[in-house]
Amino acid sequence: MAEPSIFTRIIAREIPATIVLETDRVIAFNDIAPQAPVHFIVTPKTEQYRDVVELAAGDPGLLAELVATARRLADEHANGDFRLVFNTGADAGQTVFHVHAHVLAGSGSAGGLG
Ligand code: ADP
Repeated sequence: MAEPSIFTRIIAREIPATIVLETDRVIAFNDIAPQAPVHFIVTPKTEQYRDVVELAAGDPGLLAELVATARRLADEHANGDFRLVFNTGADAGQTVFHVHAHVLAGSGSAGGLG
């Protein structure tokens, strides 16, 4: 058995995090190293999908739930506008292979892509 991902350990409350939203299938918490005034991680509770490509193929409804969660968080914690980033693969900067979206919002959140 592989070690549980760091996000699975947050879901199990083995590692502290500031959880901002939780449903049956999805959890969202503050990123520990924020890259924007508002920066949440939104992730499925299951770690069976390593990246967004696998998730889209395996459970598109769950991917839609991640997107809807991002929408709700941006409405509740910012002015509704947000970036949704899925780093996919190590060369693209992915370090946690338990699919997750970065939700970035607030003034200046567009960064180099804005
Ligand atoms: P990267 O580290 O390059 O952003 P990922 O896209 O895999 O790669 O994102 C992992 C994210 O998880 C990082 O933004 C990191 O700050 C965040 N993170 C890691 N450990 C924790 C933790 N214990 N609590 C909250 N966020 C965490």
